[in-house]
Amino acid sequence: MSYTILTGDRATGPLHLGHYVGSLRQRVELQHQHRQTVMVADLQGLTDNGSNPQKISANVLNVVADYLAVGIDPLKTTICLQSALPALTELTLYYLNLVSVARLERNPTVKSEIVEKDFARSLPAGFLIYPVSQAADITAFGATHVPVGADQLPMLEQTNEIVRRFNHVTGQAVLTECRPLLSKVDRLPGLDGRGKMSKSRGNAIALGAGADEVHRAVMSMYTDPGHVRVSDPGKVEGNMVFTYLDAFCEDAALVAELKAHYRRGGLGDVKIKRLLEDCLQSLLEPIRTRRADFIADKGELLRVLQEGTRRAHQVSQRTLAQVKAALGLDFFALD
Ligand code: ATP
Ligand code: MG
Repeated sequence: MSYTILTGDRATGPLHLGHYVGSLRQRVELQHQHRQTVMVADLQGLTDNGSNPQKISANVLNVVADYLAVGIDPLKTTICLQSALPALTELTLYYLNLVSVARLERNPTVKSEIVEKDFARSLPAGFLIYPVSQAADITAFGATHVPVGADQLPMLEQTNEIVRRFNHVTGQAVLTECRPLLSKVDRLPGLDGRGKMSKSRGNAIALGAGADEVHRAVMSMYTDPGHVRVSDPGKVEGNMVFTYLDAFCEDAALVAELKAHYRRGGLGDVKIKRLLEDCLQSLLEPIRTRRADFIADKGELLRVLQEGTRRAHQVSQRTLAQVKAALGLDFFALD
C-alpha cells in the first residue's frame, strides 16, 4: 500500500541526532515507496521566536542541507518551505474556528513547552495555535501517515479532531485523518539527560558536529553515579551511554552482552563510551562531509527548495479550493 506522507522540522537550528533516529532515518526509507513531502517549518519556528526572525531565516537552508546530507532525495521527496505556501496559512484560519481555546490549552506538548519556555503572560497567540497550523500542513497534502517523534502525538490527535469536525460540519469527506509512524527511538534524550534532545535546549549533537565535539560530548556523558570503580556493578537503566548505544549501535547482541557485563561489574565507563563514540563517528562522518558540500552551494539548496515548493503549492492550493467549496465560500477566484 502506498502512503501519502507529510512531515517537517522547525527552522530553529541545525538538525540533530534526535531528528535522525526519531524521523529522518525513516524518511530516507519511506521515500522509495511512498509519496513524501518534507517541510521546512519556518513559520512554526517563528511562533516562539517572534522577535528573532533572523534566527529562523538563517536556519532554513541549514535544514535543507541536513535533509540532503542524510539521504533525502529531492527527486523522490518534495522538499518545501512553509512560509511560501499561502494555502497553509489560509487553511489555518479556517480551522481555527473549529477548535476551542480550552482545547488548545489542554494539548500536553504545548502545555509543557509553555512552562519550559517560561512564557507566562507573554505567551504568543501564534504559539498556542501552532497545532492548528500543523493540522493545516498535514491535511493540505492529504497526508495519511506522519513520521514523527513521540512529542508530536498530541498534534496528530488534534489534527484528526479537526478533520472529523470539518467533515461533519460540511457533511463532506474532504479531509483525511492521519496516523503517526513512530520509530523505535521516538524520544532521544538530550545530553543533559533531562527531557528530549532539542535544538532549543542546547542539549543536542548536531548532524554536522565536528569530530572533536562528538568526542567531548560522549566523554562527558553521565553514566551511573554509583559506578565508581570499574569492578563495581553498574546500572544500565537511565544510563545515557546505554540509551545511546541502543539507539545507534547496530550490533544489538554486543550491546546486550555489554549491558550484562556492566551490571555484573568489571566493565569501565571509558570502554562503553569508546564504543559509542565509534558508532557515532562512523554515522556522522559521511553526513558531515556531504553537509559541508551542500552548505558550500547555497544556490543549489535554494533551487531544490524552490522546485519542491512549486510542486507543494499546486497540491496545497487544490486542497484549499476543496475546503472553500465545502464551506460554500468559493464564489469566485482571483488569478
Ligand atoms: P525545537 O526545540 O525548536 O522545537 P526540536 O529539536 O524539537 O526543535 P522539531 O523541529 O520541533 O525539533 O522536531 C522535528 C521532528 O523531529 C518532530 O517529528 C519531532 O518529533 C522529531 N524530534 C525532535 N527531537 C526529537 C528527539 N529528541 N527524539 C526523537 N524525535 C525527535
Ligand atoms: Mg520541537
